[in-house]
Amino acid sequence: MESTRDISVSAPPREGCETPEVLRENLAAVQARIVAAAERAGRDPAEVKLLPVSKTVDEARIRWAYDAGIRLLGENKVQEAERKSEVTADLGDLRWAVIGNLQSNKAKNVARFAAEFHALDRLKVAEVLERRLELEDRRLDVMIQVNSSGEESKFGLPPGDVVDFAARLVPFERLRLTGLMTLALNSPDLEQVRPCFVIMRQLREELLELENGSGATELSMGMSGDFEVAIEEGATVVRVGQAIFGARPTPDSHYWPPG
Ligand SMILES: *Cc1c(COP(=O)(O)O)cnc(C)c1O
Repeated sequence: MESTRDISVSAPPREGCETPEVLRENLAAVQARIVAAAERAGRDPAEVKLLPVSKTVDEARIRWAYDAGIRLLGENKVQEAERKSEVTADLGDLRWAVIGNLQSNKAKNVARFAAEFHALDRLKVAEVLERRLELEDRRLDVMIQVNSSGEESKFGLPPGDVVDFAARLVPFERLRLTGLMTLALNSPDLEQVRPCFVIMRQLREELLELENGSGATELSMGMSGDFEVAIEEGATVVRVGQAIFGARPTPDSHYWPPG
């Protein structure tokens, strides 16, 4: 079936995460790097949460992650996330964060199973989510996605539109705005990446002034290649996939358009 291509519920062992022990070591190494980065920046490491990202990761490894203590996983694509939430439904307290751009026709799925949605950038999607959440009698933690790099190809709102957009979310009673999310510039030169994170920190200060902004304290930013810099600049959630689960077979262009 074509549509199972991304889901990889039974994939071959992936390089860098062949056994539960390796997964635990990877996790511990990432957690140690988080602590070190926070301390370098004079921050309390407890302020920084790790969100492991399990896209393309098969069910066996998801269960290893659960056994290692993981209770929230990030997924880019809604169908893949929902499918995995179904096959792991026996793990009652495993929750899912959808972190990828959402078409409004998929919002009903997110309303059904997700605990968090990190990539809100359109009112239309907020409207559909609100309606479906009411039907499901659920609530959803949401973050606004910001295009902090200014790359045309990236999803998310331009920084200048974020505060206004956040203010428009006030009437949506089923959506709880918890903060801002970004994918920074994709560059090996981390000093080029850093300004993206700085913009985010400044935007959060502006948000805190809003009626619905006082709870919007989270900054979801930083991935395998740049999470330490993100922490230095104020990240409270880092979304890390490959450094935990091993190299991914699909290129990033499958998830967001190339820069
Ligand atoms: C895949 C993904 C990540 C994690 O990327 P890694 O390189 O695997 O750490 C973070 N954020 C989003 C939105 C993603 O899709």
